[in-house]
Amino acid sequence: MFDVIVAGGSYAGAAAALQLARGRRKVLVIDAGVRRNRFAHSSHGFLTRDGTPPDEIAGIAKAQLLAYPNVTWIEGDAAEASGSNDDFTVAVRGGESHGGRRLVLATGIVDLLPDVPGLVEQWGLSAFHCPYCHGYELDRGQIGVLAVGAHSFHQAMMLPDWGETTYFAGGFAPTAEESAQLAARGARIEATPVASVAAAGDGIAVTLADGREIRLAGLFLAPPTMPASPLAEQLGCETDETMGHRFIRTDAMKATSVAGVFACGDTARMGSSLAFAVADGVMAGSAAHRSMIFAGH
Ligand SMILES: Cc1cc2nc3c(=O)[nH]c(=O)nc-3n(C[C@H](O)[C@H](O)[C@H](O)COP(=O)(O)OP(=O)(O)OC[C@H]3O[C@@H](n4cnc5c(N)ncnc54)[C@H](O)[C@@H]3O)c2cc1C
Repeated sequence: MFDVIVAGGSYAGAAAALQLARGRRKVLVIDAGVRRNRFAHSSHGFLTRDGTPPDEIAGIAKAQLLAYPNVTWIEGDAAEASGSNDDFTVAVRGGESHGGRRLVLATGIVDLLPDVPGLVEQWGLSAFHCPYCHGYELDRGQIGVLAVGAHSFHQAMMLPDWGETTYFAGGFAPTAEESAQLAARGARIEATPVASVAAAGDGIAVTLADGREIRLAGLFLAPPTMPASPLAEQLGCETDETMGHRFIRTDAMKATSVAGVFACGDTARMGSSLAFAVADGVMAGSAAHRSMIFAGH
């Protein structure tokens, strides 16, 4: 029996496991190795690792974690979780089942990209969700925002700080007031739907339904997301949804609605970055630890 089983061993899961390892608890990490930012060549905005390849950061985290003898790491998919506080079972797909007193869910999210030909291929290379992560490198070039919902207006309002911005509103035409706000920020509105996108030099070419092609340094969109694993649902954890982003509900200590189950990182918060995920993981790991010491935590 492990003290804690951590599902997902990326930035959030590794940070949670590190606290527990340093608390001299017996930890099992089960990780499928499919991180959300695997499409990007470099990661930005995380102190001391600005511009470093994402897999290098995750690799250092894993190596440092595995130096603790009380950590076990399984490469695999945590397929099923069941049980209750002090007695959970997690089954690895095609493998064994493992028992744990507490669970930490750090399994990330999946971006549900709109069906625009070429977009999947450009995701993380010239099409991004986060301007703080990839906006600076576009060097104040031409930038596009692809509307995926009414909330995309907010992204279009942000982007002029990173470059001259065109808002591809498509079927999500801004209201008259929003149009005025976009104009005040210097953003152009393009109503013709986007038919496809493709790589173009260092940037991206957007082809509109009327055949026009617009060259951009980068395209931003805020697609809806969903938890990457069914574990929270299997355990009965409550979820919340904001602006198309469905995530596991947690309190300030990263405890879910199910006793003994904690969740952290993208799968349990609004706003996503390595720094947020790591901070979340630290809280989940230390809260799981404390819950095994103090009753009622
Ligand atoms: C294209 C792109 C570029 C980005 N660039 C940046 C950037 O430059 N800077 C930045 O700070 N943020 C960036 N982000 C955001 C960043 O990727 C996320 O905030 C971060 O990865 C969240 O960490 P996490 O540990 O919560 O989840 P993830 O990193 O997504 O890791 C989840 C882990 O859980 C595993 N997993 C899932 N289900 C299971 C299961 N059932 N069993 C076992 N393991 C499972 C996955 O395989 C994965 O290893 C980017 C995101 C995208 C999409």
